[in-house]
Amino acid sequence: MSNTTHHTTQPKPGQPAQPATHVKRAWAEPFKIKMVELLKVTTREERVAALQEAGYNTFLLKSDDVYIDLLTDSGTNAMSDVQWAGMMLGDEAYAGSRNYYNLEQNVQKYYGYKHLIPTHQGRGAEHLISRILIKPGDFVPGNMYFTTTRLHQELAGGTFVDVIVDEAHSSENLNPFKGNVDLKKVEALIAKVGAKKIPYISVAVTVNMAGGQPVSMQNLRDVRALCKKHGIRVILDATRAMENAYFIKVRESGYADKSIPEILHEMCSYSDGATMSGKKDLLVNIGGFLAINEWDVFEEARNLVVVYEGLHTYGGLAGRDMEAMSRGIVEACDADHLRARIGQVEYVGERLLQADIPIVKPVGGHAIFLDAKKFLPHLKQTDFPAQALAAELYLESGIRAMERGIVSAGRNKETGDHYYPALELVRLTFPRRVYTQAHCDVLVESVIEVFQNRQKIKGLKMVYEPKYLRFFQAKFEPIA
Ligand SMILES: *Cc1c(COP(=O)(O)O)cnc(C)c1O
Repeated sequence: MSNTTHHTTQPKPGQPAQPATHVKRAWAEPFKIKMVELLKVTTREERVAALQEAGYNTFLLKSDDVYIDLLTDSGTNAMSDVQWAGMMLGDEAYAGSRNYYNLEQNVQKYYGYKHLIPTHQGRGAEHLISRILIKPGDFVPGNMYFTTTRLHQELAGGTFVDVIVDEAHSSENLNPFKGNVDLKKVEALIAKVGAKKIPYISVAVTVNMAGGQPVSMQNLRDVRALCKKHGIRVILDATRAMENAYFIKVRESGYADKSIPEILHEMCSYSDGATMSGKKDLLVNIGGFLAINEWDVFEEARNLVVVYEGLHTYGGLAGRDMEAMSRGIVEACDADHLRARIGQVEYVGERLLQADIPIVKPVGGHAIFLDAKKFLPHLKQTDFPAQALAAELYLESGIRAMERGIVSAGRNKETGDHYYPALELVRLTFPRRVYTQAHCDVLVESVIEVFQNRQKIKGLKMVYEPKYLRFFQAKFEPIA
């Protein structure tokens, strides 16, 4: 294909990206539909009322008032018939459920870690590892913050330090691995505070807050080598590790012929353990785990999980949930699944770029991020432009997105001022195996409509602010 008039979203190192038309047919879903869930289409008047009641926060909308729900890819996946069949095989014993052992086996087989602690979801695992490894006054470097990850580090007395490459903060830069850790930043932190004050580095694969950008295998290898030299652990946030593995397969030289399980295994081999939200990669509606190689850390986690989640062989999950997650590991590692999953996101990205809509490039694995600063240049960051844009998109079409900007970033606990993230984004997140290409077309048309009328969009003021993770429950009003 040599049609150079097409925009491109997915670069390959050392060569220009293929026009996305090249892959259009390739992402056809590797499944057919056996059961459907009916959607409700609302009127504009109904949406105006619903949005006002929700305080202009899409998190506070009732899902019944939403047409296409792109709030999150967390727990919104459609399970397969094989997973549902597994639900019927739940062994709801209090202790030693067979589904725990099935899950343990698949975690060992696919991720390669030795020990498993199930948790009710990802943040349960983050809580445990933060409590166990972080002492007050410690520093925890990470490739961009994630909301719950950073909060648990802070609650344990640690300070999060962002060590992601600078390119991640630009929505234009086409680096294929914008999730990479900047080793110089890690070295600078070690020089400043000393390795003893750094219990571990948390490496997210892919990086949610940077737009689902992946980390390269080379970078993981380099991080491992540096940390080993200084006796610092590497803990993966493996929430979207399989999507990251897919990006390595298609973008990093030397991996095209490797299978996803082989790549995943190698990625995890450069770490000591992982926190995991099964609600993303693993195609379930609830579940997560902590996986760890060190016996001492495992032992402590096994003690603590009983206090906070449940016995160490269920960690807050029903047996059936563990079975669905265990089976989800196998399905999520399928290259055709990942290709369709990421292909759908690329399809929408491509169409939005063709319409000159400002989005984060390259398109990441689980979401399209609208660049609200470029979309609404007439608004100040303290007018909450991304929040306002998400609200407008809902009014226009009943599509639910979420803010990933100044509201999500929260406040600096020292100064009390907002954090001012460089990127002010609206996230359109794609549940796995849920929406069709026609839904994607409706989405594209709606975003274009909002873009054409963007001058009319006003900023918001915050009228209620919760103490923690304010983006979930904050309320707003339009600026008069
Ligand atoms: C969702 C998510 C988490 C937290 O997991 P929950 O299951 O929502 O508690 C942690 N890290 C990343 C990157 C996530 O996307």
